[in-house]
This record gives sequence, C-alpha cells and structure tokens, in this order.
Amino acid sequence: MNQDVVILGAGLSGSLLSILLAQQGKQVHMYEKRPDPRGAAASQGRSINLALSHRGIQALEQAGLADSLRQIAIPMHGRMMHSVEGALTFQPYGTAGQYINSVSRGVLNRLLIEQAATRQVSFHFEHTCEDVHLVDNTIFVRDEATQKMQEVIAGLLIGADGAFSVLRNAMQKTPRFDYSQHYIAHGYKELTIPASATGDFAMEPHALHIWPRGGHMLIALPNQDKSFTCTLFLAYEGNESFEKLQTEEDVLAFFNRYFPDALSLIPHLTDDFFTNPTSDLVTIHCYPWSRYHHNVLLGDAAHAIVPFYGQGMNAAFEDCHIFNKLLTKHGTDTDALIAEFQRTRKPDADAIAELALQNFVEMRDKVADDAFLERKKIEAELYRRYPNQWIPLYTMVTFTDIPYAEALETGRKQDRIMEEVMKEFTHLIALTDQDFENIVARLL
Ligand SMILES: Cc1cc2nc3c(=O)[nH]c(=O)nc-3n(C[C@H](O)[C@H](O)[C@H](O)COP(=O)(O)OP(=O)(O)OC[C@H]3O[C@@H](n4cnc5c(N)ncnc54)[C@H](O)[C@@H]3O)c2cc1C
Repeated sequence: MNQDVVILGAGLSGSLLSILLAQQGKQVHMYEKRPDPRGAAASQGRSINLALSHRGIQALEQAGLADSLRQIAIPMHGRMMHSVEGALTFQPYGTAGQYINSVSRGVLNRLLIEQAATRQVSFHFEHTCEDVHLVDNTIFVRDEATQKMQEVIAGLLIGADGAFSVLRNAMQKTPRFDYSQHYIAHGYKELTIPASATGDFAMEPHALHIWPRGGHMLIALPNQDKSFTCTLFLAYEGNESFEKLQTEEDVLAFFNRYFPDALSLIPHLTDDFFTNPTSDLVTIHCYPWSRYHHNVLLGDAAHAIVPFYGQGMNAAFEDCHIFNKLLTKHGTDTDALIAEFQRTRKPDADAIAELALQNFVEMRDKVADDAFLERKKIEAELYRRYPNQWIPLYTMVTFTDIPYAEALETGRKQDRIMEEVMKEFTHLIALTDQDFENIVARLL
C-alpha cells in the first residue's frame, strides 16, 4: 500500500508538518505553487511579520526549532497605544516574562523549508495543484516551468494550501459538505516605517504598536532590520474608507487627522499606499475536513480566520502539533487519526474564529476606553492573586494551550461576572481582599 504523504502547500503549516511527519519516519512530498524561498529571487520584496505565541512555539519546539526561533524573533511585551495627540500608553500583555514574538513570515517559512530539507522531505516548487480526485487520492499538478501536467497518487493527502485550498474545493463538490465564507467590511494595506536616520528603531521595538481609532486602526510590528511593518485596517466603503482615499492629498489628510505621529515616520507613505495592494479579510468555516478516507485539511485550508487575535498561524501550527500527537497514538490507522483530529479540533477552530472577530472591536475601539482598561487591571490583579483560577481570556488564548473552545466559554463567564463587578466598582483601588475572593468564587 502507498504510504507516502503528499502535502499541498509549503507555506507555514505545510512545511512545519512535513518536519514532524519526517521525524516519524514518513516519506513526505511537498507541492508548492510559489518559487523556492531559498532562492535569491524569493528573498526580495516587502517584509511581512506575524505575532507568534505559545501555541505556535510549542509546535515549533516539537520540531526541534526552539533555538533557531530565538534568533529570528523580536519579543513584544505589550501593546503601545498611540493617541491622536501622540501620547503613548503601554499595556503589558501578561505578567512579567510573558510576551509574544514578531517574526518575519518569509524568514520563518524559509527556516522551516531548510529544516525540512535536512530531513529528506522532497520539495516540488513551482508546481501548482489544479485539481484533486478524492476517491483515488490523486492530485493533478502543473509544472510551471514546462507547463506539463502530472498525476500523483498519495497514500495520505494533506491540504495545507491556505484559505483558497484546492483540496477543499474538491470536497465542496461532494454531498453534505458544509461550507461558509464571510468577508468583513474592512480590508488591509501594509506600509513601512523604516529605521531612523541613525539606523535604529524609530519607535519602541519591544511592543506591538496600535493606533485605535474606533472604526479603523493602524498597527505596527518590529522587524529585525529595525524597520516596522504597519498594517492599516479600514473599511472598503463609507465615510472613512479606502474608497475615499483616491489621491495623495486624501491619504496625507487622513493620516494627518488620525495618525499624525505615524505620518512623520513613514517617508514613502503615498508611494506605498498606491503601490501596495488592499487585501481582504475572510473567515472560512467548513466540515468535514476529510472526504473518502486518507485526506485531510488543516491550517487556513480548514479554518481561515481574521488576524485580530494574532492566532491564524498559531492555530495552524497547533493543528500540526495535535495531528502529530494523534499519529503517534493511532499509528497506521489513518481513519482513526483523521476522525479524532477533525472531531476534537473543529470546536476549537470555530472558537478562535469567533474570538478573532470579537478582538477586532477590542483592538480598534475598547483599548482606548478608560472603563475597559480599569477592568483589565482588575482582571490582571485577579490573575496575580489566583493564577490557577482566574486566567484572563487573552492570557488563555495567547500564553497557554487551553483549548480555544474552553477559553471562549470561560471568557464568556468572566465577561458576565465582570459586567456585574464594574457596576459596583469602577476602580481597582476600591476592591478589598474579600471582594477579590468573592469574584473568583463566582467563576468557580
Ligand atoms: C494581515 C494578516 C496578518 C496576520 N497576522 C497573524 C499573526 O500576527 N499571527 C498569526 O498567528 N497569524 C496571523 N495571520 C494568519 C496567518 O497568516 C495564517 O493563518 C497562516 O499563514 C496559515 O498558514 P497555512 O500554512 O495554513 O496557509 P498559508 O500560509 O496561506 O500557506 C499556504 C501555501 O499553499 C500554497 N498553495 C496555495 N494553493 C496552492 C496550489 N493550488 N498548489 C500548490 N500550492 C498552493 C501557497 O502558495 C502557500 O505557500 C495573519 C494573516 C493576515 C492576512
């Protein structure tokens, strides 16, 4: 019987999974439509970074990449809020020593592919999968260099081919396959704050910078070359929207009004604005993640989410980690492996999709609200006093591997309790030891 694993997509999740499976002695073949990122041509282009946190790190550690990771990550200990007047407020993400990491997507992807290559994973770059026959697990791949089509039969076929997965497309044509996609009203555009004239970071590097402005926001994450990649999240249409920013004057006036301190740090704002694309933000739900045995979706192919919790890649890496553990458990019983993977993972994928949508409102609006910030301080104090009983939602999602569905459920309970608490106490200072004990008792 064909034991070979074929992975569609050598992006973040596909390449990590290839390492984990190779470590278990599997022969893995990767098909990726883009060029090999280890080549010179691929290292050009804009730097795009992602926030990597506990779940992703845990999976990377399983692949033996903890040390390499430390070389490429910039710790971010909290949010740095920028008011319209340019005042800065720092909000730590957790307790001392808890931080998230800014990593370059390109550098991380290259690292994963280099590591996979040392474990005898075979790569086929510039090979685009055009179609999949599910019944016989066959993929139809076009070699971009020769334009020749090739058929490959997989023992196990894994769709790690992102939000617009070809494997999922094939599944969508089968009976009783659930599928939905939802675009939010906002799009995003990436911009760059370069290193300062003295070659240093132009802002505090160990923070995720946010300019929350209600209906829209700008964020910035540090890069290793001392620049920052900024992302503007803005509605496509409406009073303040991409459609209203048609000329250089429009863009400058918009930034001058909402982000004046950022404007002074982005020298090529209008060039970047009109050169860089405006991209969409989609949530995708589907189920099942496998059809007719021996194939499975994971990462964005199974559950694309909006980026506001910084969890898409982390969830995709956690998929790989869990899949790998289940492979150890089930061995050659692939049906049992896939069944348990999708059954246990689907509720968590749905939960993080919901949390990510909710967090957009928190990031762009609530983080600038005094009552909300006071509530966060009370929750932080509860966590300090009762670290095992009251873990704030952000901490559960970002710094633990508590299943996302459980975090969402506990977060809802905490929300209900804190709404009552905030009616009674508006400030942390007003609470006594007994009050803290009473609050925790309500959660338990
Ligand atoms: C603006 C933005 C910011 C984000 N920020 C964060 C963050 O801070 N933290 C975080 O955890 N997540 C973040 N994410 C989410 C994260 O980027 C994704 O969740 C992650 O990339 C998913 O990995 P993946 O391997 O499943 O898919 P992808 O990274 O999309 O990889 C899919 C791969 O498949 C290849 N492919 C596609 N179709 C084919 C085909 N037909 N044949 C062959 N190859 C194919 C693609 O070329 C690609 O290499 C962000 C996303 C966006 C849009």
